Amino acid sequence: MLKQSARPLGELENPNEFIPRHIGIGEDDERLMLSAIGEASRRALIESIVPRSIARSADMKLPPAVTEAAALKELRAIAQRNQVFKSFIGQGYYGTHTPGVILRNILENPAWYTAYTPYQAEISQGRMEALVNFQTMVCDLTGMPIANASMLDEATAAAEAMTLAKRSVKSKSNTFVVFGDCHPQTIEVVQTRAAPLGIEVVVANSAEEWEKAMAGDLFAALIQYPASSGWVMDWSGEVKKLHAKQAAAIFAADLLAMTLLTPPGEWDADIVCGSTQRFGMPMGAGGPHAAFLACRDEFKRSMPGRLVGVSVDSHGNPAYRLALQTREQHIRREKATSNICTAQVLPAVVASMYAVYHGPQGLTRIAQRVAAYTAILWNGLQKMGYTATHHGTAFDTISLKVGEAAQALVAKGHALRANLRLAWDEYICISLDETTTRDDIELLWKVFAKTGQALPKVADFEKGIEPMIPQELRRTSAFLTHPVFNTHHSETGMLRYLRGLADKDLALDRSMIPLGSCTMKLNATSEMIPITWPEFAHVHPFAPREQLQGYAELDEQLRAWLCQATGYAGISLQPNAGSQGEYAGLLAIKAWHESKGQVHRNVCLIPSSAHGTNPASAQMVGMQVVVTACDDNGNVDMADLKAKCEQHSDKLACIMITYPSTHGVFETQVKELCALVHSHGGRVYVDGANMNALVGVAAPGEFGGDVSHLNLHKTFCIPHGGGGPGVGPVCVVEDLVPFLPGHKSGGLPAHGVGAVSAAPLGNAAVLPISWMYVRMMGAEGLKQATETAILSANYISAKLRDHYPTLYASKNGHVAHECILDLRPLKETSGVTAEDVAKRLIDYGFHAPTLSFPVPGTLMVEPTESETLEEIDRFIAAMVAIREEIRRVERGEWPQDDNPLKHAPHTAGALLHGEWKHAYPREVGAAVLDERRHAKYWPPVGRVDNVYGDRNLFCNCVPMSAYE
Ligand SMILES: *Cc1c(COP(=O)(O)O)cnc(C)c1O
Repeated sequence: MLKQSARPLGELENPNEFIPRHIGIGEDDERLMLSAIGEASRRALIESIVPRSIARSADMKLPPAVTEAAALKELRAIAQRNQVFKSFIGQGYYGTHTPGVILRNILENPAWYTAYTPYQAEISQGRMEALVNFQTMVCDLTGMPIANASMLDEATAAAEAMTLAKRSVKSKSNTFVVFGDCHPQTIEVVQTRAAPLGIEVVVANSAEEWEKAMAGDLFAALIQYPASSGWVMDWSGEVKKLHAKQAAAIFAADLLAMTLLTPPGEWDADIVCGSTQRFGMPMGAGGPHAAFLACRDEFKRSMPGRLVGVSVDSHGNPAYRLALQTREQHIRREKATSNICTAQVLPAVVASMYAVYHGPQGLTRIAQRVAAYTAILWNGLQKMGYTATHHGTAFDTISLKVGEAAQALVAKGHALRANLRLAWDEYICISLDETTTRDDIELLWKVFAKTGQALPKVADFEKGIEPMIPQELRRTSAFLTHPVFNTHHSETGMLRYLRGLADKDLALDRSMIPLGSCTMKLNATSEMIPITWPEFAHVHPFAPREQLQGYAELDEQLRAWLCQATGYAGISLQPNAGSQGEYAGLLAIKAWHESKGQVHRNVCLIPSSAHGTNPASAQMVGMQVVVTACDDNGNVDMADLKAKCEQHSDKLACIMITYPSTHGVFETQVKELCALVHSHGGRVYVDGANMNALVGVAAPGEFGGDVSHLNLHKTFCIPHGGGGPGVGPVCVVEDLVPFLPGHKSGGLPAHGVGAVSAAPLGNAAVLPISWMYVRMMGAEGLKQATETAILSANYISAKLRDHYPTLYASKNGHVAHECILDLRPLKETSGVTAEDVAKRLIDYGFHAPTLSFPVPGTLMVEPTESETLEEIDRFIAAMVAIREEIRRVERGEWPQDDNPLKHAPHTAGALLHGEWKHAYPREVGAAVLDERRHAKYWPPVGRVDNVYGDRNLFCNCVPMSAYE
């Protein structure tokens, strides 16, 4: 019998309960792992890895860890400081009902939200089918031939459309015309993006200004359809005028409206972009939502973002994979057309499933109801004496010219817990949406009623009323005719469709995803729960700031904590992916140089090992990329760097390094490197994607960095969502704080470099995830997480040393939080490539490590702190078993072209059907490890043929006949 003795209360209350839930390695595991590495203690290990010169000067000052329940309670109190008013603001953000079956089985389901970007096609067929549905939905609704698999938000999509047009049209003009009745935040972001590229943006704020701009020289025009203030018109004549000038017509279109309106594609538009938010994603104070971009066929090869295409697998069956340009984006580097990496896959899946579930009839009914309520609202207002509107046309938004009464009306709305949009000082815009009810219409009439005035009743319009869409603009073409949009309309059917797709994929809910540089760690349930709380989910980004106090507090606390973690002085959470943080950070550096009169400083040094987004971002801010070499040990070559600094001294703007390097080592001369660049007048950008090796141990803001971005979807637990959403905060030292992004439309000062995202807090609704993580871990827990991540990577490197040597290590043989396994020699001895090993891992039930980045022919493994020793050992066992298979090929037991690696992954069908003609037995092909017999993962397709897919680019839903 164990003796029960009194324990201190603090121990029983256990405020650190979450730490061992997040960190998979216990004390006993740690001892075993340290002995495999050959270090006496975790402290000794860390001290032998992290250069003494960069160690933190003091511990992070964070509130002490609390339990999951206590953190949730504290966050709830913060959330409740937001006020959830009924929103009639519109302006790109609308109320929507997330169907319960989609809410629970996608948005709240780890099988979807913990998946990675679908680079490994064979284990990503489910989410890629969902994305092909998304692409097809966008094409059908906009009337365009090709659409990508999501953009970050409508405003950045419009900016990307601008640059896509610039590089695609024949017009040599530098002028981009923006219709003044676009959403203001879109105009703001377009202006930010245009400035460093030397594009002149002309905003046409009246019919006369539009006529004048269209008569001049221009390379493209951006039109909001329906207009931000609601009216609709036939733009086909303007498209023709643009084409006559070899210029492009770009539309920012509303997808729900497209069910009723002639889509821009039918006017021969060149690019159509917009947001899919109102297809089931809550407003969430601005994000995350999937934006879209569709274009004419001739533009497809330079389209930004990811595109899912249909190819065939090794058995000749249709299979999805990311198409050509996705890989090109990384290969093109400074010639890349866009820096988008993490996009908005999870929200895109939600939006596509909203269309699958409602189908064309359901969507049309929702749109018709919105249009009918809008017409009823307008009729009632006319009866009440309001007659001045912009145009007599509308889909869901009417704008009333109310002159001086505007402010008072908005205030009256607030008193009735309704938000109205005030525009151009004397207009009020009212937007209706899927959630609008009869009560809402009557509430709105109440807002506009004069004292004692009799109010109309919605019931008076029971018999139906004509929508305010002119006859000639009403859509006649069919859309969403593919069976997928016309089948899963029962909840049972939908549930099974979603389950079936999720079952095709590997996500963190099944096995470890050891992707170097991507930090696929635990996304704890307690971290996820708050994101759908109504106080966070159902608020509009442009609601009055006094209603968003909860978000303000969340923003302030999280920024303070991240400042502690990074050593920086100021942070903006606005960028909605790492790439956007890079962009914002480089803009800050550029603006700082300009403020010193150093406009000519535009050289950006980037080591050859950098992530592809680095040179792409530099190119987008108009900097000239100069690549610096790495030495044989994978470190920045200091002699080459010194030479480049001297050569470009008066033009040097900055260097972009990643720390620890993408080679997985802590370079010891990083302080000297920073000092060298500073001595030439440049600033140091430290790509923070590898912060999981630094938090609590070293701070870039202390060791010489001037700017960093973080990837909250890597280090700070926001799930990858199958390729987004992300959050990429930009962090800066003191003198760069004035150059952080601002946001006029969102009520932030327009200072600094302007807006880089549509919403002031970017993907605001996922910030609670990182808040919860930091709150439950505290400074000690976070530091322990970092140290454990480093421990686990070193354990894997040590255990696999005799099978796959680690390419880069520090002098004592240690790595940082990830290790690059060198598989290149195997090609010579066995014909086996790193890709073969990646595919063979699928048979063993694992997602492959990062393949061929940053070094071709290698695998980069990052276990993170969240994996248990059992899972890590299982991965090691699989890697060793695969190495044994390779040895059999090396010994000549199996031919180089007929072995379990070359035919991996093995589908159940390929193993079961017909005569077996291979040199190895079926059960070897299956790779079922005894202890996992009950949990064998069966890939749905064989190896996907990339080349076939690129030659035959097809990116919409496959006709069902293809499967026969
Ligand atoms: C992930 C990553 C990025 C890009 O971040 P996104 O959020 O995907 O845009 C940049 N640099 C490195 C080293 C990365 O690993």
